[in-house]
This record gives sequence, C-alpha cells and structure tokens, in this order.
Amino acid sequence: MEKNWKIETLAVQAGYEPGDGDPRILPLSQSTTFKYNDVQSVADLFDLKKSGFFYSRLANPTVDCFEKKIAAMEKGVAAVALSSGQAASAYSLLNIARCGDHVLALSSLYGGTVSLFTNTLKKAGIEITFVTPDASYNEVCAAIRPNTKAVFIESLANPALIVADFEIYAKAAHAHGLPLIVDNTFPTPVLCNPFDFGADIVTHSTTKYIDGHATSVGGIVVEKGGFDWGCGKFPEFTEPDESYHGTVYTRDFPDCPFSVKLRVQLVRDYGIPMAPFNAFLSHIGCETLPLRIERHSENALEVAKFLKQHPNVSWVNYPGLPDNPEYAKVQKYFRNGMASGVLCFGVKGGKAAGERAMNALKLANIVVHVADVRTGVLHPASMTHRQLSDSELIAAGVSPDLIRLSVGIENVEDIKADLDQALRA
Ligand SMILES: *Cc1c(COP(=O)(O)O)cnc(C)c1O
Repeated sequence: MEKNWKIETLAVQAGYEPGDGDPRILPLSQSTTFKYNDVQSVADLFDLKKSGFFYSRLANPTVDCFEKKIAAMEKGVAAVALSSGQAASAYSLLNIARCGDHVLALSSLYGGTVSLFTNTLKKAGIEITFVTPDASYNEVCAAIRPNTKAVFIESLANPALIVADFEIYAKAAHAHGLPLIVDNTFPTPVLCNPFDFGADIVTHSTTKYIDGHATSVGGIVVEKGGFDWGCGKFPEFTEPDESYHGTVYTRDFPDCPFSVKLRVQLVRDYGIPMAPFNAFLSHIGCETLPLRIERHSENALEVAKFLKQHPNVSWVNYPGLPDNPEYAKVQKYFRNGMASGVLCFGVKGGKAAGERAMNALKLANIVVHVADVRTGVLHPASMTHRQLSDSELIAAGVSPDLIRLSVGIENVEDIKADLDQALRA
C-alpha cells in the first residue's frame, strides 16, 4: 500500500495484499481455528509475542483485512471489527470508562446510541450526560467533570441530520485530556475523515453505506494513534493488566494501545466479533463505496430540491441544500460539499397523510434500514421511535410527521416519479 493513495484507491486496494500466487480476491476464512505444528507457536500467540490467528473470536484473516481497509480509509493506525454498530459504540466507551466514570455526549445522537447510553451503560455505572448541538465551547467545557473519560459525538446525526462542529468538541476534549470519539456512519470515510478534525477514535455501523447492499450487520472501531493515555486519567492503559500477564498497553503496544486493549480485554471476555462472512461481504461492498456515495449524494440533492417545490410537501431537511442551517459545516468538513444520501421531509396533512404517501410508494421500499443501494423510507414515529410520546419525539428531533428517505443509486428520475405519484395518491 502506498502512503499517498487517495480514498478511491484505498477503497479498492487497501486491506488485502495478496502475495505471489495467492487468490486475487480476499479469501473467506470460514474457520473458527488455525492449525499449528508445535505448542510453542500457539503459546507465543497467546502471549501476544507474535501476531497471528488462533481463534476467530479474537482475530480472523478475513476480518483482519477488512479492519486494515477501513483503518487505511480513515487514516488510522488500527481497527477492530465487531458484530454491529451498537457493539462498536458500546466498546469504544467500555474500553475507556468504567463504573463511576462519566461521559459527555451530543443529544442528537442516533436513537440506538442514546438508548445504549441512557439504559444499559447507565446500569453498568457509567453516567452519560448530553449537550445540545448548539452548545458553545464554554458550555461544553462546563459539562465536563473530573470523572469524565470521553466525549462522544456523531459527524452527521441520524436522523436529525445535524453536522457536528468538530472543532468545538475536539478543543474541549483535548483541553481536559480526553479522547474525542466520533460515530462517522453517515458520511463514511469517503466524505469525512474525523481524524483530520481532532477525533481520536472513530466508530461505524458498517451495516449502512460501508456494506451498502443491506447484506451484513457489522460495526468497527478505528484508532487514530498518538493519543496521550498517560496523563493519569487512564490507569488501565498505563498500569500492568494482570489478566494479561502484566501487559502495559501504552508500553508494549505504543502504536495502537487502544485497539489492542479493546481486542484482548473486551472481545476476549464479551465476544461479539464480526463474523468472517460479514467481513468478506463488507470488504467487497467497500470497494465501490466512493462511487456509491457520490451517486447517493447527487441523487439526494436532486430529490431534496424536487420535494422542496412539491405542492404536497410541507418541509424538507437535507444538509446539502444551500439554505439548510448545516450547509456551511458540510462545505467545511465534508469532501466536495457532498452531504450523503439521507434526507427527511414532512407531508402536508401530517402523520396520517405521510403514512398514506408511504403506502403508495412502488420503487421506494418501507424498510427499517438506511444507506443501501435501494431507495428506502421509514417513518420513525410509527416504527423505530414508536415507544416515544409526541413530546419525546420532538425532544429527539423527530417530529410526528417526519419521513426519513434514504435515497438510493437508482436513476433519479425514477425515484422522483415514484415520490410524485405517491404524494399525489
Ligand atoms: C445504525 C446505526 C448505528 C447502530 O448500528 P447497527 O449496525 O444497527 O448496530 C449506530 N450509529 C449510527 C449513526 C447508525 O446509523
């Protein structure tokens, strides 16, 4: 791999580098285990003296190549692939924070992340408080406590479609010696590299654009490298881990202590690694990611403009529209000003009229999914967010009439025609 390869080249070439006579395509190592000729070889692997494979809960050759591809595309030093985006969010924090610690997060996060933070991590003794996306630098700093261990944000919030002001959170986190974690699922590394804007850890639900074909649920955590874990706040990184023969992660793995610790503690003990077959499919999906994201973004902008002038549409939210409040941040942080493929809109007549329009769609499918090649719609108020009251929906940035449209890579005229006939039905 060449150091200066650009994102389109990395998407195709990074990760798997076959040797002489090897298969050209990344092989699927659908094997739980690996054969060795002598006991010492396996002992050395267990002792982390050598790198290699012995059991697919911890590492697998197919998964390893997928991890290397995403790490390269995000310009990170290492990555750990997991069975879902939820696992990636959970492990990115559990690797840093423990019972009694606090984490600061953005209130516009994906609903599943908010649920994880306010229910399950809370039960584990990790307290998470939220700041609103309009918080100033001073307000973010004021929300940081002596026991805060990380700041967690989402680069392009699903489904609120708010672009994070990276500089505020990076500056506030670093002024307090904390890592900034960024869920970069919606822009993908094609549109945005959070490490360029101060992030220290990036997470993804690879289920979305990275796989891109709706075949595989998966997640990944990527480490930038170079974060100072030695400031005294993170003893688990700098003191011997007795569960692993006294390993000191910052001393023994100075390049990627976060990733090694995550793998040998959390993946060893809780499991939930990415399955090899899902890594195989996601690795292939990733090869066309730059092409797909370009088309998703072009189509979404065109559809947003179309919906905006439609007589039966009351409002449209797409950060790629020049009059959208997020537009300036899209120009600043996202490559070529592209804003990815998801937009939200409301139908005149509210929730009931929106449901009628959705039922009348032919090309666009009603699915609990976003970010694959097919155009899909979801009505959060009656689907993903149906446990919430109307006032809770508003607080989550989800109005009762909000329809989330994930614009696919079909011909945009066909997508517009389908929406038009459904809105008139
Ligand atoms: C879908 C999603 C997740 C959760 O990922 P799963 O793969 O469904 O577990 C996390 N963050 C964002 C932004 C998402 O869109």
